[in-house]
Amino acid sequence: MGNGNVIKLLVVGTVAYDTIETPFGKVENVLGGSALHFTNAASFFTDVGIVATVGRDFKLSAIDFLKDRNVDLSGITVGEGKTFSWSGRYGYDLNQAITLKTELNVIEEFKPIVPGHFRNAAFVFLANIDPQLQIHAINQVTTPTLIVLDTMNFWIEHKYDLLMEAIEKIHMLIINEAELREISKEHNLVRGAHKIMAHGPSWIIAKRGEYGVLMMSEKEVFLAPAFPLEDVFDPTGAGDTFAGGFMGYLANVGEVSSETIKQAVVMGSVMASFNVEDFSINRLKHLKYEEIKERYTAFKRCYEFKDIEFG
Ligand code: AMP
Repeated sequence: MGNGNVIKLLVVGTVAYDTIETPFGKVENVLGGSALHFTNAASFFTDVGIVATVGRDFKLSAIDFLKDRNVDLSGITVGEGKTFSWSGRYGYDLNQAITLKTELNVIEEFKPIVPGHFRNAAFVFLANIDPQLQIHAINQVTTPTLIVLDTMNFWIEHKYDLLMEAIEKIHMLIINEAELREISKEHNLVRGAHKIMAHGPSWIIAKRGEYGVLMMSEKEVFLAPAFPLEDVFDPTGAGDTFAGGFMGYLANVGEVSSETIKQAVVMGSVMASFNVEDFSINRLKHLKYEEIKERYTAFKRCYEFKDIEFG
């Protein structure tokens, strides 16, 4: 791609160099960022247009493999300065990332320009980035069917009002349970989700790390577990990978309903289960479509049981 074709799924977010420490090892300046993890997953299901910025230090050839998966990289600009970088550490509780350093670098001067052939994408994912830039991107899309937003504590704490302004313009929020509590100022997730829905979104998906996800709308609640893996190396990007599997699946089906959203939640969970098996974007870079099907079958078996008959 990259040839000006209209795309189904647009993502705006970060492409980063991450330094990550988990109990199982440490990696420095590896590929990461919300938009990159997202795209790495979504591109198994649909064509994706990515809008992001990197610095002059970024090796663009390292993400060239995405072109073979129908990713249009023409929305990535190269800014003056260094690439956005994030350093984080996890203890034995892999659900809790401790941010050691966030260097915004080129993000500080970034104004996302959505290329013309991305503007009528039906599915739009505003990955974790400055909410001001998320609003700027929303204003450029013309006919969105579904706009989904993710964020994190960094932006909730630094730009709460702008984040709430962005939330008013979207259809769905996908965030960690801790972030849901922080945004809604409610301890109870169900109560918190309803409070946020009153501001606009029709669906809230709360990511709960190894406990899976909780999807809520005004009328429904749906739960999906996380696939129980024996080896989890690095949870970084699991949330974005979930969102990528979720949105990629939905964009491919092309229909947003209660049923397709639940299927998409399952597909997101399947994709996230791969991401945590290796550092950075490595596991999904080499993933085969056959492996996705196998994991889906194993995943489904985890919560199938014979109906209980009440006498
Ligand atoms: P996740 O583990 O799915 O929540 O996302 C991890 C990715 O988010 C990492 O690869 C980071 O580069 C990126 N990231 C960390 N902090 C921020 C931030 N404040 N804004 C945007 N992206 C971030």
